[in-house]
This record gives sequence, structure tokens and C-alpha cells, in this order.
Amino acid sequence: ASTTSRLAIAIAGAGIGGLSAGLCLARAGHRVEIFERAPALREIGAGLQITPNGAAVFERLGLGPALDKVAIRARAVRPTDGRSGRGIARFALDGGPYPYRFLHRAALIDLLADAARDAGARIVTGQAVRAARPETGDLIFETGEPTRHELILAADGLRSVLRPLITDEAARFTGQVAWRAVLNGVEAAPEARIWMLPGRHVVTYPLPGGRLNLVAVREQSGWAPEGWDHAEDPARLRAVFADAAPELRALLDRIEATRLWGLFRHEVPERWHVGRLALLGDAAHPTLPFLAQGANLAIEDGWVLARALEAAPDLDAALGLYAQRRGPRVRRAIAAAQANARNYHFSGVSRRIAHLALGAIDRVAPGRFTARMDWLHGHDVTRNWPAIARMTGHSSLE
Ligand code: FAD
Repeated sequence: ASTTSRLAIAIAGAGIGGLSAGLCLARAGHRVEIFERAPALREIGAGLQITPNGAAVFERLGLGPALDKVAIRARAVRPTDGRSGRGIARFALDGGPYPYRFLHRAALIDLLADAARDAGARIVTGQAVRAARPETGDLIFETGEPTRHELILAADGLRSVLRPLITDEAARFTGQVAWRAVLNGVEAAPEARIWMLPGRHVVTYPLPGGRLNLVAVREQSGWAPEGWDHAEDPARLRAVFADAAPELRALLDRIEATRLWGLFRHEVPERWHVGRLALLGDAAHPTLPFLAQGANLAIEDGWVLARALEAAPDLDAALGLYAQRRGPRVRRAIAAAQANARNYHFSGVSRRIAHLALGAIDRVAPGRFTARMDWLHGHDVTRNWPAIARMTGHSSLE
């Protein structure tokens, strides 16, 4: 066995990134402890899109059937003129090797936590990490005794307390704010609709149980409130979309409670580790949510890290290999999400041209959308290891 097998690994944060990494690492034979600040595992009340690249990891972990029980399989994405309500195009999302799913975040957290525990991971809630000593692997908590580990993963999100030990990259406001809401009693086709308006857009998609997930985004020059999100009067959201199509306004009228998020991110650092400490998920590479990739990229991270630990001769090499394999991929996805901010928010003549172009792609070459997204959705981190498969000859993850 190499020096990186059966490590004692601590993960700070039991979000989607920390739990899926914990699952992959426990399956690979490591001793995993996950420390979560919140008193109980929970997620914000909102939906999530798991795209085929994230699904590839879950499929190889054997979670496909469990996911299908709590998810809706998406059939298409429909860019829509948010002012007139006219459908601009309909791009198929089904037909690939792995499904594209809509589900509730809380359902995914429950499923991942159960699978991680079954694989032997220990999840400790109500345990906030305060600091770490990367050279020794000591983890220091807000309360209680420090613990020592061979590897510490900072999966503590965009506001990571451990990231400053690795990089100076600080999160900054992106000039975009988002409202989120879940509507009850709405039956909708299994499609994501992107309602585009000048400087704004709304994404809606169904969740199991007759619910509809809604995210509305607008450009805004500053972020005044303290903190990252706050309760918001739905009337303010409705006022921002007062010129929207009647169908969209009818949905917005049904919102009883919403929260407003300032969207923040930082650059992806060059180095992802120092000593025994490494970054994962939003702590490493936060993205605008306009390509539904933040959680999917975090899920990919966990698998790649587990494989890198299997493949490399020592911890430093494994963590270097992990960052080397992840860096270009997450940078490309983040840039594409950033470009969507522009594509969705066009106004004036460029808006008409963009809508015509989307419609033309749909009519003339409907497969072109799938082909254009293949680098993202068709990427399967569980299979793209030719060199490493030769090195190890097997994988214990499956
Ligand atoms: P987080 O989810 O932030 O989890 C971090 C965890 O660490 C939390 O549980 C937190 O409580 C815990 N923690 C924090 N500090 C400490 C500490 N000091 N000690 C211990 N624990 C700590 N992504 C998709 O893939 N698909 C989508 O459809 C999608 N939609 C989105 C829509 C919106 C509006 C937004 C804003 C984001 C969306 N994302 C989506 C992005 C996705 O939510 C994030 O990228 C993802 O949740 C990141 O997971 P994470 O585990 O890295 O971090």
C-alpha cells in the first residue's frame, strides 16, 4: 500500500461537497470524520440541478436508483423571452449516458449523509472549526479539544475559515443578487425554463411533490446589507419583474416568502493545498450559479481527490495531482457561467439578435446545444484516468 492509503481524514463542512467527498474517501478505505458547524445537517429550502457530470460520480457510487426516488429527470431546457413569454428554443437534456435531475437540496444531503455513514464516515454536527495547523494536521475547534489528522479538507464553503491558510483570495461581490423561493402546488413539465429579461433572469424547474423551484437574478451595483443573505419582502421581487410576461408574473405573485442573496466569488487559487490541508468545493472555486455547476464541480472534486490519493506515491504529490486535474476544468466552468450572465441579460438590439440565434440553433441544428455542452455535461471524472488506471490497476471506489 502507498503512504496515502487508509489516511485519517478530517473534513470541515458537511455541505454537498464535504459529504460527497467523505463518501468517496470512506469508500476508498480512509478513516473519515466530517465536522459541521450547524447543530444538525440541513440545507437551505431550495432545489438543485444535478447535471450528468455530477450524476456520473453518483452512478459509479451506486446512488442512481436512490436519487431517482427523490428527483425528477429533466427532459429539456427552454430559454424563454421573459417579457413576452414566448419560447425561444427547447434543448433536450435527456438521451445522454447519465440523467440530468432536479431535486431538493435537503433530499440530497440526507442521501449523501446516509451513504457516507454506511461507508464508515463519522459525521459530527455542532462542531465549528476555527483554525488548523497544516504542517501537523491539527484541527482546532471553537469549543473542545483539537484533533490530529493526516489530511484536512476545507469543504467549509465560500466563507471558508481555513482558505486563508492557503491563499489570500477573498470573496467579492459579483454585481448580481438572487432571490430564491419554492412554490407549492405547481405542476410543471420536467423542464428548466430560463426567463430572460434585460439585466435580469428567472430560472424555474419542478421539484418532486408538485413544487416549483424559482431563482430570480438581477444585476445590482452594490451589496449593502451586512452578511450574505437576508429575508426579503416578495413585493420587492415582484416590482423588479413588473414588466415580465403574465405567466411569469403569476408565478411571482404566488411567492409568500423569499430570501435575497448577494452572489459572491473569488478567483480560483493556483495552489489548493499547503502541508496536510487542501481545499474542496466552494472553498476552492465558487461560481455564479448560471450553469448549475457549483455543487456538481464539488462532487467531481471528491472523486478526483480519492483517485489522486490512490495513484500518487505520497500526500504532497496526491494533492498536487488533484489540483492539477481540477484547476483547468473548474476555471472553464466558472468562465462559462460568467458568460451566461451576459447571455441571459442582453438588452436592446443584442437581445433580439441573441434570441434569434438561439431559435436558429434549435431549428437548424437541435443537436448543437448538446454538442456545445458536451465538454461540461459529458465529462466523466470516473473514466478520465487512463494514466492512473495504469498506475494502480484497480479502483476500490466502485
Ligand atoms: P457549502 O454548501 O457552502 O457547504 C459548506 C458547509 O460547511 C456548510 O454546511 C456550513 O455550515 C459548513 N461550515 C461552514 N463553516 C464551517 C466551520 N467553520 N466549521 C464547520 N463547518 C462549517 N450548484 C449546482 O451544482 N447546481 C445548481 O442547480 C445550483 N444552484 C444554485 C442556485 C443558487 C441561487 C446558488 C447561490 C448556488 C447554486 N449552486 C448550484 C451552487 C451550490 O449551491 C454550491 O456550489 C454548493 O452548495 C457548494 O457546496 P460546498 O459543500 O462546497 O459548500
